[in-house]
Amino acid sequence: MSDTLASLREYIGGLPLVDTHEHVVPEADRLAVPQDLFSWFPHYASSDLVSAGMPIPVLEEVRNPAVPLEERWRKFAPYWEATRNTAYCRALLIAARDLHGVEDITADTWRTLSDKIAASARPGWYHHVLRERANIAVSLNDTDYIARERSDFALFAPVRRMDDVVGIRSRAELKQLERDYDTTVHSLDDLVRLVGRIVERAVADGYVALKNAMAYRRPINYELVSRHEAEQIFNRLPNYLDELRARVYPGVGLGWAEAKPLQDYLVHQFIRAGIDNHLPIQIHTGLQEGDGNLLVHSNPLYLANLLCEYPEARFDIFHAGYPWTSEVATLGKNFQNTYVDLCWVHVISPAVSARVLDEWLETVPANKILAFGGDYRFVEGAYAHAVMAREVVAKVLAAKVDEGYFSAAEAPALANRLLHDNAWDLFKLAERKRS
Ligand SMILES: [Zn+2]
Repeated sequence: MSDTLASLREYIGGLPLVDTHEHVVPEADRLAVPQDLFSWFPHYASSDLVSAGMPIPVLEEVRNPAVPLEERWRKFAPYWEATRNTAYCRALLIAARDLHGVEDITADTWRTLSDKIAASARPGWYHHVLRERANIAVSLNDTDYIARERSDFALFAPVRRMDDVVGIRSRAELKQLERDYDTTVHSLDDLVRLVGRIVERAVADGYVALKNAMAYRRPINYELVSRHEAEQIFNRLPNYLDELRARVYPGVGLGWAEAKPLQDYLVHQFIRAGIDNHLPIQIHTGLQEGDGNLLVHSNPLYLANLLCEYPEARFDIFHAGYPWTSEVATLGKNFQNTYVDLCWVHVISPAVSARVLDEWLETVPANKILAFGGDYRFVEGAYAHAVMAREVVAKVLAAKVDEGYFSAAEAPALANRLLHDNAWDLFKLAERKRS
Protein backbone atom coordinates (compact mmCIF):
# COMPACT_ATOMS: atom_id res chain seq x y z
CA MET A 1 0.00 0.00 0.00
CA SER A 2 1.30 3.45 -0.86
CA ASP A 3 1.94 5.91 1.95
CA THR A 4 -0.48 8.24 0.19
CA LEU A 5 -3.29 5.70 0.42
CA ALA A 6 -2.54 4.94 4.05
CA SER A 7 -2.63 8.59 5.07
CA LEU A 8 -5.73 9.37 3.00
CA ARG A 9 -7.52 6.34 4.43
CA GLU A 10 -6.81 7.60 7.90
CA TYR A 11 -7.85 11.16 7.09
CA ILE A 12 -11.05 10.16 5.28
CA GLY A 13 -11.84 7.59 7.97
CA GLY A 14 -12.19 10.47 10.43
CA LEU A 15 -14.35 12.76 8.28
CA PRO A 16 -18.01 13.28 9.12
CA LEU A 17 -20.17 12.54 6.07
CA VAL A 18 -23.19 14.25 4.61
CA ASP A 19 -25.37 11.50 3.17
CA THR A 20 -27.37 12.85 0.21
CA HIS A 21 -29.95 10.08 0.05
CA GLU A 22 -31.60 7.41 2.22
CA HIS A 23 -35.01 5.77 2.64
CA VAL A 24 -34.57 4.78 6.28
CA VAL A 25 -37.82 3.80 8.01
CA PRO A 26 -38.56 5.60 11.30
CA GLU A 27 -36.93 3.78 14.20
CA ALA A 28 -40.26 3.36 16.00
CA ASP A 29 -41.69 1.56 12.94
CA ARG A 30 -38.71 -0.76 12.80
CA LEU A 31 -38.98 -1.54 16.51
CA ALA A 32 -42.60 -2.53 15.98
CA VAL A 33 -41.66 -5.61 13.93
CA PRO A 34 -39.30 -8.46 14.93
CA GLN A 35 -35.87 -8.40 13.27
CA ASP A 36 -33.76 -11.28 11.96
CA LEU A 37 -31.16 -11.93 9.25
CA PHE A 38 -33.72 -11.59 6.50
CA SER A 39 -34.62 -8.05 7.62
CA TRP A 40 -31.49 -7.17 5.64
CA PHE A 41 -33.19 -8.26 2.42
CA PRO A 42 -35.95 -5.70 1.76
CA HIS A 43 -34.19 -4.57 -1.44
CA TYR A 44 -30.85 -4.71 -3.34
CA ALA A 45 -29.43 -8.08 -2.22
CA SER A 46 -32.94 -9.54 -2.50
CA SER A 47 -33.12 -8.31 -6.10
CA ASP A 48 -29.87 -10.15 -6.79
CA LEU A 49 -31.38 -13.32 -5.27
CA VAL A 50 -34.24 -13.03 -7.74
CA SER A 51 -31.84 -12.25 -10.56
CA ALA A 52 -29.97 -15.46 -9.65
CA GLY A 53 -33.17 -17.45 -10.08
CA MET A 54 -35.03 -17.34 -6.76
CA PRO A 55 -38.78 -17.45 -7.49
CA ILE A 56 -40.71 -14.51 -5.99
CA PRO A 57 -42.90 -16.81 -3.81
CA VAL A 58 -39.70 -18.26 -2.30
CA LEU A 59 -38.42 -14.74 -1.57
CA GLU A 60 -41.75 -14.04 0.14
CA GLU A 61 -41.32 -17.17 2.29
CA VAL A 62 -37.73 -16.20 3.14
CA ARG A 63 -38.98 -12.82 4.32
CA ASN A 64 -41.97 -14.21 6.23
CA PRO A 65 -41.35 -14.21 10.03
CA ALA A 66 -44.17 -16.75 10.43
CA VAL A 67 -42.06 -19.39 8.62
CA PRO A 68 -39.48 -21.11 10.90
CA LEU A 69 -36.00 -19.52 10.56
CA GLU A 70 -34.30 -22.85 9.71
CA GLU A 71 -36.62 -23.37 6.78
CA ARG A 72 -36.06 -19.82 5.56
CA TRP A 73 -32.28 -20.31 5.69
CA ARG A 74 -32.55 -23.64 3.81
CA LYS A 75 -34.43 -21.96 0.95
CA PHE A 76 -32.16 -18.92 0.97
CA ALA A 77 -28.74 -20.62 1.15
CA PRO A 78 -28.28 -21.81 -2.46
CA TYR A 79 -29.17 -18.37 -3.83
CA TRP A 80 -26.94 -16.65 -1.28
CA GLU A 81 -24.04 -18.77 -2.54
CA ALA A 82 -24.87 -17.67 -6.08
CA THR A 83 -25.06 -13.94 -5.26
CA ARG A 84 -22.54 -13.36 -2.48
CA ASN A 85 -20.07 -12.11 -5.10
CA THR A 86 -22.10 -8.93 -5.81
CA ALA A 87 -21.39 -5.63 -4.12
CA TYR A 88 -24.93 -5.60 -2.67
CA CYS A 89 -24.03 -8.78 -0.77
CA ARG A 90 -20.51 -7.60 0.09
CA ALA A 91 -22.12 -4.60 1.81
CA LEU A 92 -24.08 -6.98 4.07
CA LEU A 93 -20.89 -8.89 4.89
CA ILE A 94 -19.26 -5.59 5.94
CA ALA A 95 -22.24 -4.79 8.18
CA ALA A 96 -22.18 -8.29 9.73
CA ARG A 97 -18.45 -8.06 10.42
CA ASP A 98 -18.26 -4.50 11.73
CA LEU A 99 -21.56 -4.11 13.57
CA HIS A 100 -22.02 -7.65 14.92
CA GLY A 101 -18.54 -9.22 14.86
CA VAL A 102 -19.68 -12.03 12.53
CA GLU A 103 -17.06 -12.62 9.83
CA ASP A 104 -19.21 -14.32 7.20
CA ILE A 105 -22.75 -15.43 6.45
CA THR A 106 -22.60 -19.24 6.21
CA ALA A 107 -24.40 -22.35 7.46
CA ASP A 108 -22.28 -22.06 10.62
CA THR A 109 -22.70 -18.36 11.34
CA TRP A 110 -26.10 -17.26 10.08
CA ARG A 111 -27.97 -18.12 13.27
CA THR A 112 -25.57 -16.14 15.46
CA LEU A 113 -25.86 -13.14 13.14
CA SER A 114 -29.63 -13.42 13.04
CA ASP A 115 -29.81 -13.49 16.86
CA LYS A 116 -27.56 -10.45 17.07
CA ILE A 117 -29.71 -8.56 14.57
CA ALA A 118 -32.78 -9.45 16.66
CA ALA A 119 -31.03 -8.24 19.83
CA SER A 120 -30.11 -4.92 18.16
CA ALA A 121 -33.80 -3.96 18.00
CA ARG A 122 -33.62 -1.35 20.77
CA PRO A 123 -34.07 2.44 20.85
CA GLY A 124 -30.82 4.23 20.09
CA TRP A 125 -29.54 1.68 17.57
CA TYR A 126 -29.98 4.19 14.71
CA HIS A 127 -27.91 6.78 16.55
CA HIS A 128 -25.27 4.16 17.36
CA VAL A 129 -24.97 2.95 13.74
CA LEU A 130 -25.37 6.19 11.81
CA ARG A 131 -23.65 8.65 14.11
CA GLU A 132 -21.22 6.68 16.29
CA ARG A 133 -20.15 4.01 13.80
CA ALA A 134 -20.71 5.52 10.32
CA ASN A 135 -19.95 9.09 11.47
CA ILE A 136 -22.72 10.49 9.29
CA ALA A 137 -23.49 14.09 10.33
CA VAL A 138 -26.88 14.06 8.62
CA SER A 139 -28.72 11.93 6.06
CA LEU A 140 -31.19 13.35 3.55
CA ASN A 141 -34.14 10.97 3.87
CA ASP A 142 -36.60 10.49 1.03
CA THR A 143 -39.84 10.46 2.96
CA ASP A 144 -42.26 9.24 0.34
CA TYR A 145 -44.06 7.16 2.94
CA ILE A 146 -42.54 8.46 6.15
CA ALA A 147 -44.61 10.80 8.27
CA ARG A 148 -42.68 13.89 9.23
CA GLU A 149 -43.74 13.64 12.83
CA ARG A 150 -41.92 10.33 13.17
CA SER A 151 -38.71 11.57 11.54
CA ASP A 152 -35.67 11.95 13.79
CA PHE A 153 -34.32 15.38 12.93
CA ALA A 154 -31.10 14.75 14.83
CA LEU A 155 -30.10 12.16 12.22
CA PHE A 156 -32.21 12.98 9.16
CA ALA A 157 -33.15 15.93 6.96
CA PRO A 158 -36.35 15.02 5.12
CA VAL A 159 -36.80 15.22 1.33
CA ARG A 160 -40.23 15.72 -0.24
CA ARG A 161 -41.10 13.43 -3.12
CA MET A 162 -43.25 14.98 -5.86
CA ASP A 163 -44.37 11.74 -7.52
CA ASP A 164 -47.78 11.40 -5.86
CA VAL A 165 -48.84 14.65 -7.53
CA VAL A 166 -46.77 14.48 -10.71
CA GLY A 167 -47.64 10.84 -11.42
CA ILE A 168 -51.36 11.45 -11.51
CA ARG A 169 -53.26 9.37 -14.09
CA SER A 170 -56.73 8.76 -12.67
CA ARG A 171 -59.57 10.30 -10.79
CA ALA A 172 -59.01 7.81 -7.97
CA GLU A 173 -55.49 9.20 -7.51
CA LEU A 174 -56.89 12.73 -7.58
CA LYS A 175 -59.32 11.77 -4.79
CA GLN A 176 -56.41 10.32 -2.82
CA LEU A 177 -54.53 13.62 -3.16
CA GLU A 178 -57.58 15.49 -1.89
CA ARG A 179 -57.64 13.24 1.19
CA ASP A 180 -53.87 13.39 1.73
CA TYR A 181 -53.72 17.18 1.53
CA ASP A 182 -57.17 17.96 2.93
CA THR A 183 -58.25 19.98 -0.09
CA THR A 184 -60.41 19.77 -3.19
CA VAL A 185 -59.07 19.71 -6.73
CA HIS A 186 -61.53 20.47 -9.51
CA SER A 187 -59.26 22.14 -12.06
CA LEU A 188 -55.69 22.28 -13.27
CA ASP A 189 -55.42 25.62 -11.45
CA ASP A 190 -56.37 23.87 -8.19
CA LEU A 191 -53.69 21.26 -8.81
CA VAL A 192 -51.01 23.87 -9.56
CA ARG A 193 -51.99 25.74 -6.40
CA LEU A 194 -51.63 22.46 -4.49
CA VAL A 195 -48.07 22.08 -5.85
CA GLY A 196 -47.22 25.53 -4.49
CA ARG A 197 -48.79 24.73 -1.12
CA ILE A 198 -46.96 21.41 -0.83
CA VAL A 199 -43.59 23.02 -1.50
CA GLU A 200 -44.18 25.97 0.85
CA ARG A 201 -45.33 23.55 3.54
CA ALA A 202 -42.25 21.39 2.92
CA VAL A 203 -39.99 24.36 3.61
CA ALA A 204 -41.90 25.24 6.78
CA ASP A 205 -41.63 21.61 7.92
CA GLY A 206 -37.86 21.49 7.45
CA TYR A 207 -37.59 19.58 4.17
CA VAL A 208 -34.32 20.37 2.40
CA ALA A 209 -34.95 19.13 -1.17
CA LEU A 210 -37.56 17.92 -3.65
CA LYS A 211 -37.24 14.49 -5.22
CA ASN A 212 -38.38 13.08 -8.54
CA ALA A 213 -38.32 9.29 -8.97
CA MET A 214 -40.57 9.10 -12.02
CA ALA A 215 -37.97 7.05 -13.93
CA TYR A 216 -39.65 4.00 -12.38
CA ARG A 217 -42.90 4.84 -14.15
CA ARG A 218 -42.16 6.57 -17.48
CA PRO A 219 -39.39 8.28 -19.49
CA ILE A 220 -37.88 11.31 -17.76
CA ASN A 221 -38.15 13.68 -20.69
CA TYR A 222 -40.20 16.52 -19.20
CA GLU A 223 -41.20 18.61 -22.16
CA LEU A 224 -42.37 22.19 -22.09
CA VAL A 225 -46.13 21.75 -22.39
CA SER A 226 -48.71 24.50 -22.83
CA ARG A 227 -51.16 25.06 -20.03
CA HIS A 228 -53.95 24.37 -22.50
CA GLU A 229 -52.55 20.97 -23.40
CA ALA A 230 -52.11 20.03 -19.73
CA GLU A 231 -55.63 21.17 -18.91
CA GLN A 232 -57.09 19.02 -21.66
CA ILE A 233 -55.50 15.96 -20.06
CA PHE A 234 -56.57 17.07 -16.59
CA ASN A 235 -60.15 17.41 -17.77
CA ARG A 236 -60.13 13.79 -18.89
CA LEU A 237 -59.19 12.53 -15.41
CA PRO A 238 -62.64 12.85 -13.85
CA ASN A 239 -64.09 9.97 -15.79
CA TYR A 240 -66.86 9.07 -13.39
CA LEU A 241 -67.29 5.62 -14.85
CA ASP A 242 -63.58 5.02 -14.26
CA GLU A 243 -63.99 6.15 -10.70
CA LEU A 244 -66.66 3.55 -10.11
CA ARG A 245 -64.62 0.88 -11.86
CA ALA A 246 -61.48 1.88 -9.92
CA ARG A 247 -63.01 0.43 -6.78
CA VAL A 248 -62.68 -2.96 -8.44
CA TYR A 249 -59.76 -2.31 -10.80
CA PRO A 250 -57.40 0.14 -9.06
CA GLY A 251 -55.06 0.26 -12.07
CA VAL A 252 -57.65 2.05 -14.17
CA GLY A 253 -56.76 5.47 -15.54
CA LEU A 254 -54.91 7.07 -18.41
CA GLY A 255 -51.83 5.26 -19.70
CA TRP A 256 -48.56 7.01 -18.89
CA ALA A 257 -48.12 8.12 -22.50
CA GLU A 258 -51.56 9.73 -22.48
CA ALA A 259 -51.02 11.37 -19.09
CA LYS A 260 -47.50 12.51 -19.94
CA PRO A 261 -48.25 16.12 -21.02
CA LEU A 262 -50.05 16.79 -17.72
CA GLN A 263 -47.25 15.12 -15.75
CA ASP A 264 -44.60 17.10 -17.65
CA TYR A 265 -46.46 20.31 -16.88
CA LEU A 266 -46.60 19.44 -13.18
CA VAL A 267 -42.87 18.63 -13.06
CA HIS A 268 -42.18 22.13 -14.40
CA GLN A 269 -44.49 23.58 -11.73
CA PHE A 270 -42.57 21.73 -9.00
CA ILE A 271 -39.26 23.01 -10.33
CA ARG A 272 -40.57 26.58 -10.37
CA ALA A 273 -41.84 26.16 -6.81
CA GLY A 274 -38.46 24.69 -5.86
CA ILE A 275 -36.75 27.78 -7.29
CA ASP A 276 -39.13 30.16 -5.46
CA ASN A 277 -38.51 28.33 -2.19
CA HIS A 278 -34.77 27.66 -2.68
CA LEU A 279 -35.11 23.87 -2.60
CA PRO A 280 -32.74 21.82 -4.78
CA ILE A 281 -34.33 19.11 -6.95
CA GLN A 282 -33.01 15.54 -6.74
CA ILE A 283 -33.76 13.43 -9.82
CA HIS A 284 -33.45 9.67 -10.19
CA THR A 285 -31.53 8.68 -13.32
CA GLY A 286 -30.02 5.38 -14.45
CA LEU A 287 -30.51 1.92 -12.96
CA GLN A 288 -33.82 1.28 -11.23
CA GLU A 289 -33.88 -0.94 -8.14
CA GLY A 290 -35.67 -4.27 -8.52
CA ASP A 291 -35.97 -6.86 -11.21
CA GLY A 292 -37.34 -6.15 -14.67
CA ASN A 293 -37.24 -2.40 -15.31
CA LEU A 294 -37.26 -0.30 -18.47
CA LEU A 295 -33.80 1.17 -18.11
CA VAL A 296 -34.13 3.23 -21.26
CA HIS A 297 -36.66 5.51 -19.50
CA SER A 298 -34.00 6.78 -17.12
CA ASN A 299 -31.38 8.18 -19.51
CA PRO A 300 -30.03 11.36 -17.86
CA LEU A 301 -29.62 13.07 -21.23
CA TYR A 302 -33.41 13.42 -21.26
CA LEU A 303 -32.97 16.12 -18.61
CA ALA A 304 -30.95 18.56 -20.70
CA ASN A 305 -33.98 20.72 -21.56
CA LEU A 306 -34.82 21.21 -17.85
CA LEU A 307 -31.22 22.07 -17.05
CA CYS A 308 -31.30 24.67 -19.86
CA GLU A 309 -34.71 26.04 -18.96
CA TYR A 310 -34.05 26.68 -15.25
CA PRO A 311 -30.56 28.10 -14.67
CA GLU A 312 -31.68 29.38 -11.26
CA ALA A 313 -32.66 25.89 -10.04
CA ARG A 314 -30.23 23.44 -8.43
CA PHE A 315 -30.41 19.91 -9.81
CA ASP A 316 -28.86 16.91 -8.05
CA ILE A 317 -28.51 14.12 -10.64
CA PHE A 318 -28.73 10.79 -8.86
CA HIS A 319 -26.91 7.49 -9.12
CA ALA A 320 -24.29 8.84 -11.53
CA GLY A 321 -26.91 7.97 -14.16
CA TYR A 322 -25.36 4.49 -14.12
CA PRO A 323 -24.65 3.16 -16.71
CA TRP A 324 -24.70 6.63 -18.36
CA THR A 325 -21.95 7.92 -16.09
CA SER A 326 -20.02 9.88 -18.72
CA GLU A 327 -23.27 11.45 -19.89
CA VAL A 328 -23.81 12.72 -16.35
CA ALA A 329 -20.25 14.07 -16.31
CA THR A 330 -21.02 16.11 -19.43
CA LEU A 331 -24.21 17.49 -17.85
CA GLY A 332 -22.25 18.49 -14.74
CA LYS A 333 -19.62 20.08 -16.93
CA ASN A 334 -22.03 21.96 -19.19
CA PHE A 335 -24.55 23.24 -16.68
CA GLN A 336 -23.79 25.53 -13.76
CA ASN A 337 -27.00 24.40 -12.01
CA THR A 338 -26.16 20.68 -12.16
CA TYR A 339 -24.60 18.58 -9.39
CA VAL A 340 -23.53 14.98 -9.97
CA ASP A 341 -24.23 12.43 -7.25
CA LEU A 342 -22.75 8.98 -6.56
CA CYS A 343 -25.57 8.01 -4.19
CA TRP A 344 -26.28 4.25 -4.37
CA VAL A 345 -23.34 3.63 -6.72
CA HIS A 346 -20.62 2.27 -4.39
CA VAL A 347 -22.90 -0.67 -3.50
CA ILE A 348 -23.83 -1.25 -7.13
CA SER A 349 -20.12 -1.57 -7.86
CA PRO A 350 -17.13 0.02 -6.13
CA ALA A 351 -15.17 -0.58 -9.35
CA VAL A 352 -17.70 1.55 -11.22
CA SER A 353 -17.82 4.30 -8.59
CA ALA A 354 -14.02 4.47 -8.53
CA ARG A 355 -13.86 4.71 -12.31
CA VAL A 356 -16.60 7.34 -12.36
CA LEU A 357 -15.11 9.45 -9.59
CA ASP A 358 -11.75 9.35 -11.35
CA GLU A 359 -13.38 10.64 -14.53
CA TRP A 360 -15.53 13.22 -12.75
CA LEU A 361 -12.53 14.67 -10.93
CA GLU A 362 -11.02 15.42 -14.34
CA THR A 363 -14.23 16.76 -15.89
CA VAL A 364 -16.59 18.31 -13.31
CA PRO A 365 -15.73 21.23 -10.97
CA ALA A 366 -15.11 19.75 -7.53
CA ASN A 367 -17.75 21.92 -5.84
CA LYS A 368 -20.50 20.00 -7.70
CA ILE A 369 -19.49 16.39 -7.01
CA LEU A 370 -21.45 14.59 -4.26
CA ALA A 371 -19.70 11.33 -3.38
CA PHE A 372 -21.95 9.62 -0.85
CA GLY A 373 -25.61 8.69 -0.46
CA GLY A 374 -26.46 5.37 1.17
CA ASP A 375 -29.89 4.77 -0.40
CA TYR A 376 -30.91 2.09 2.12
CA ARG A 377 -34.06 1.39 4.06
CA PHE A 378 -32.07 -0.10 6.96
CA VAL A 379 -29.26 1.66 8.79
CA GLU A 380 -26.82 -1.27 8.65
CA GLY A 381 -26.80 -0.94 4.85
CA ALA A 382 -26.12 2.79 5.12
CA TYR A 383 -23.22 2.01 7.48
CA ALA A 384 -21.64 -0.51 5.08
CA HIS A 385 -22.14 1.87 2.18
CA ALA A 386 -20.35 4.62 4.10
CA VAL A 387 -17.39 2.28 4.65
CA MET A 388 -17.27 1.49 0.93
CA ALA A 389 -17.61 5.17 -0.07
CA ARG A 390 -14.71 6.22 2.18
CA GLU A 391 -12.54 3.49 0.70
CA VAL A 392 -13.34 4.42 -2.92
CA VAL A 393 -12.69 8.13 -2.32
CA ALA A 394 -9.41 7.35 -0.56
CA LYS A 395 -8.25 5.00 -3.33
CA VAL A 396 -9.17 7.34 -6.18
CA LEU A 397 -7.58 10.41 -4.57
CA ALA A 398 -4.47 8.43 -3.60
CA ALA A 399 -4.05 7.13 -7.15
CA LYS A 400 -4.39 10.63 -8.55
CA VAL A 401 -1.81 11.95 -6.10
CA ASP A 402 0.57 9.09 -6.89
CA GLU A 403 0.27 9.64 -10.63
CA GLY A 404 0.94 13.35 -10.16
CA TYR A 405 -2.50 14.69 -11.13
CA PHE A 406 -3.06 16.25 -7.67
CA SER A 407 -0.52 17.21 -5.05
CA ALA A 408 -0.69 15.45 -1.71
CA ALA A 409 -1.70 18.78 -0.19
CA GLU A 410 -4.80 19.09 -2.42
CA ALA A 411 -6.32 15.69 -1.63
CA PRO A 412 -7.68 16.25 1.92
CA ALA A 413 -9.57 19.41 0.93
CA LEU A 414 -11.08 17.55 -2.03
CA ALA A 415 -12.18 14.69 0.23
CA ASN A 416 -13.92 17.22 2.49
CA ARG A 417 -15.77 18.73 -0.43
CA LEU A 418 -16.85 15.41 -1.93
CA LEU A 419 -18.00 13.77 1.29
CA HIS A 420 -19.27 16.70 3.33
CA ASP A 421 -19.00 20.33 2.29
CA ASN A 422 -20.65 20.27 -1.15
CA ALA A 423 -23.83 18.63 0.13
CA TRP A 424 -23.73 20.73 3.32
CA ASP A 425 -23.75 23.91 1.21
CA LEU A 426 -26.12 22.75 -1.56
CA PHE A 427 -28.86 21.72 0.89
CA LYS A 428 -28.16 24.64 3.30
CA LEU A 429 -27.82 22.17 6.15
CA ALA A 430 -26.38 24.72 8.56
CA GLU A 431 -29.80 26.42 8.50
CA ARG A 432 -31.93 23.27 8.62
CA LYS A 433 -34.64 22.70 11.20
CA ARG A 434 -33.71 20.20 13.85
CA SER A 435 -37.11 19.46 15.36
ZN1 LIG B 1 -33.36 5.98 -3.51
